[in-house]
Amino acid sequence: MASFNLQLLPGDGIGPEVMAEVGRVIDWLNANSGAKFETETDLVGGSCYDAHSVSITEDAIKRADQSDAVIFGAVGGPKWDSVPYDVRPEAGLLRLRKDLDLFANLRPAICYPALANASSLKPEVIEGLDILILRELTGGVYFGEPKEVVTLESGEKRAVDTQLYTTHEIERIARVAFELARTRANKVTSMEKRNVMRSGVLWNQVVTELHAAEYTDVELEHMLADAGGMQLVRWPKQFDVIVTDNLFGDMLSDVAAMLTGSLGMLPSASLGAPHPVTLKRKSLYEPVHGSAPDIAGEGKANPIAMIASLGMALRYSCDMGEAADLVDAAIADVLAEGVRTADLATEGQNTVSTREMGDAILAAMSKRAG
Ligand code: NAD
Repeated sequence: MASFNLQLLPGDGIGPEVMAEVGRVIDWLNANSGAKFETETDLVGGSCYDAHSVSITEDAIKRADQSDAVIFGAVGGPKWDSVPYDVRPEAGLLRLRKDLDLFANLRPAICYPALANASSLKPEVIEGLDILILRELTGGVYFGEPKEVVTLESGEKRAVDTQLYTTHEIERIARVAFELARTRANKVTSMEKRNVMRSGVLWNQVVTELHAAEYTDVELEHMLADAGGMQLVRWPKQFDVIVTDNLFGDMLSDVAAMLTGSLGMLPSASLGAPHPVTLKRKSLYEPVHGSAPDIAGEGKANPIAMIASLGMALRYSCDMGEAADLVDAAIADVLAEGVRTADLATEGQNTVSTREMGDAILAAMSKRAG
């Protein structure tokens, strides 16, 4: 029997509430999927700071490193706004990304038919949308050196950020894009700004060369990132996998996120390089949303992004594509039945609690599994 060790890091605010529903889906999988999941739960973020004066403990980092996947809730909240910078809640998440070298950030943008009216775009533009934004997460202008503000002789200040990419960094993210495309609609769109940036020229060249050498079966197109942003809101269904750098990916994935309606719907995955022998990747799965302190403790949070994040873990870390499809289909079923948490409801619609949404998804999974 396949067995997996998952580290659960619920975090702060609504994190523990939505993670509780993930716990119930894991119980369901243990009873029904034929695979065995063991979980360990650790503190992260503000709740960890309260207990240990750090945003994540060394023990938790070690367990993350040894786990098959880290399932992360959300961190932060006004309570910790004035804690020292290096132990602020987000530092725990950044430390995990860095220590596990999670260079590939996957954000699917899927439009469930039942929610086509919730988007700011026309329903026909987004109905049936299923695209994946792949963002390089550990390089580029957010990390390049020098990164500083200097005072010039004139007294004026000058700020510098450095956009920096090596062949290796571009090649490994492009490889993930091509591999993912092969499991989907087999198309990659690479976005950069080669018209004005040297790093864009190199990005374009490395992606083109890797494609020619190893992935000619996958359709590849190049698009300037600004034009890509425009095309994303004009006709997003033209895309399958979009691969881009850290900065452009940050913006384009937020644009893609809003195509589908609520923040409470969006999962994400961050993957590292495959281990040379086992081929397993370090991985962390988390909803795109934050800790939503405005609704924390009220049982109102939508658990779908969190549950769909577990679904991504099944797909990318456990090689359980069928179970992942089941989770996704169950989510689509409950939405089609009209089950809505408050963030999804239109005026006059009945709303359910976090727990009731979890109940509905579990029932839909059981129904489909027969
Ligand atoms: P947020 O995503 O927490 O909330 C934005 C809005 O969306 C709020 O009105 C919230 O109620 C709503 N919302 C978010 N998730 C929801 C869900 N699952 N169901 C229903 N409604 C939901 O963003 P914010 O308000 O800008 O930030 C709040 C805190 O979260 C801050 O401390 C911020 O630093 C932190 N944050 C953490 C992460 C993370 O852990 N990765 C990401 C973003 C923000």
